[in-house]
Amino acid sequence: MFMNLRSIGQFPSYRPRRLRQSAVMRRLVSETQLSAAQLVLPLFVRSGRKLRKAINAMPGVFQLSLDELLIEATQAHEAGVPAVLLFGIPDRKDAKASGAYAAKGIVQQAVRLLKKELPTLLVITDVCLCEYMEHGHCGIVHKTKSGAKILNDPSLKLLVQTAVSHADAGADIVAPSDMMDGRVRAIRELLDQRGFEETPILSYAAKFASAFYGPFREAAESTPQFGDRRSYQMDAGNAAEALREVALDIQEGADMVMVKPALAYLDILYRVKAEFGYPTATYAVSAEHAMIKAAAANGWIDERAVTLESLLAMRRAGADIIITYAATDAARWLSGK
Ligand SMILES: [Zn+2]
Repeated sequence: MFMNLRSIGQFPSYRPRRLRQSAVMRRLVSETQLSAAQLVLPLFVRSGRKLRKAINAMPGVFQLSLDELLIEATQAHEAGVPAVLLFGIPDRKDAKASGAYAAKGIVQQAVRLLKKELPTLLVITDVCLCEYMEHGHCGIVHKTKSGAKILNDPSLKLLVQTAVSHADAGADIVAPSDMMDGRVRAIRELLDQRGFEETPILSYAAKFASAFYGPFREAAESTPQFGDRRSYQMDAGNAAEALREVALDIQEGADMVMVKPALAYLDILYRVKAEFGYPTATYAVSAEHAMIKAAAANGWIDERAVTLESLLAMRRAGADIIITYAATDAARWLSGK
């Protein structure tokens, strides 16, 4: 970027407004583009038929049975959204997260269905244990007299099995979101051993312990039954540590990295993209969606304009890929449909 003020024009020879005169002129010099090709739609799947269970604080987002999931994914695909990100809600939870890596688990079934019916839609799977654990934490819990600990290395074994079971079902990309140390390397090693060396890893590399996840926990039924996630997710004030987290995941074999949440963490996103230059994703999380929806429902903001401006801001900050609950709407708006 320019640093030398003498190298840029001065008023009145330089008048920035000259290039803002008309829409076509503004488009000509526009620095940042937003397109449907960069959007990913998160979807929640559970067992049942013709089921669309509304989520309280996430208007327009549902827990879907497989048949309804296919309808929702088809609509997104037809609108120009290239990828979906799957989360599963199992019928039963236990202390080993068995549903996460069951060959016929709900996500594994959903992947098979989507890859069969919509082969050109990219299917990304969220790899975590919290939806499948009876306690709602992202790893194995060891209870002690003074409280509970989330065990790191023993949890890796379950995460690795989960990732491989997703790849085996046909997932195009696996996306570990647990924030255990060393999980990208462990997943990469077993994927390679099992013949999935072509399956990319999108790591939730800098995932912050955030109050913006509130509505999601109802959607994924993954609220921790005790404690919180601050012993594994990042502290909101830490930017240098976020860069170290991203560096670690890249060294361990991540093909793409993610910063989560999005709008409140654009500085992190900018630094990650500038520092590493890797394909970088961000996740506009549930409360970001809920706040726009709530204000729009009150007539306080223009939903379409605020949504598109927010997504453009994420692009400007460095996001190549944006995971957003508004993906289908935004894709339609961008194409003028
Ligand atoms: Zn989790």
